[in-house]
Amino acid sequence: MSSAAQAEQLVDGVLRIVAPNPSPMTGEGTNSYIVGHSRCAIIDPGVDEAAHLDALVAAAPGEVAAILVTHAHPDHTGGALRLAERLNVPVYAYPLELQGIRDEDFAPHRPLYHGDIVDLDTVRLEAIHAPGHTADHLCFFWREAGLLFAGDTVMADVTVVILPPDGDMSAYMQSLEQLQALPIERIAPGHGRLLEDAPAVLAHIVAHRRERETQVLESLSVDEPMMAEQIAVQLYPDLDVRLQPMAAAQVEAHLIRLVALGNAVAVADGWLCVQEADPLFY
Ligand SMILES: [Zn+2]
Repeated sequence: MSSAAQAEQLVDGVLRIVAPNPSPMTGEGTNSYIVGHSRCAIIDPGVDEAAHLDALVAAAPGEVAAILVTHAHPDHTGGALRLAERLNVPVYAYPLELQGIRDEDFAPHRPLYHGDIVDLDTVRLEAIHAPGHTADHLCFFWREAGLLFAGDTVMADVTVVILPPDGDMSAYMQSLEQLQALPIERIAPGHGRLLEDAPAVLAHIVAHRRERETQVLESLSVDEPMMAEQIAVQLYPDLDVRLQPMAAAQVEAHLIRLVALGNAVAVADGWLCVQEADPLFY
């Protein structure tokens, strides 16, 4: 059995323990957060591993009242149901079954919708429905502290993966705009370090996505269909071969959005751009 990571205090009222699931997709591992004081919530228990769950229980400064899940990817839901059973508390999440990668055994006990408040006495968390990475994705906003628990909507230093069918690039762009309208100062992501200067982080992500979208559009022609895989190889020439299917799916997410915007069309053997379409304006 692996030993659990140490609890680390990020700000007063927020502890983080990194789950022992490092990988190319999860970075150092999933961040599990303990939020609150005498009454607290655990966000994304991460993995169903005794040492990790023990560490979460031991580090909680008070009574654990709820387990919150940002989205039903297995690296976030992993320990949720076992921890809920152990502590006899409900798991809250957005009630929607994903179609692609998902934790098949996971179902929340209680639903949380956009605008719902999780009241932890000293901390109030607002549920923000932020689809894009997945359709069920919730962020949790501690407004008084300007701190957003972003799940996989924002990651530290790496680009968030948007994989169809659960991933939706247009929804993601809208969710980023929604977050930009909130008074967020700092972001505690699902993977990686605490991010200062949230407005700059969000602006950077939006700019990066628009740049990629333009590149995808520019790689299309009006009469020679291109496959998402071909475009991915052009855009990410140095990519680890194991991550190429992921990159192709990411390009596909941009292509689906370009079709919705009227800039591209899907044909039998790939994708074409629409000559008459206006260039991309934002
Ligand atoms: Zn995820």
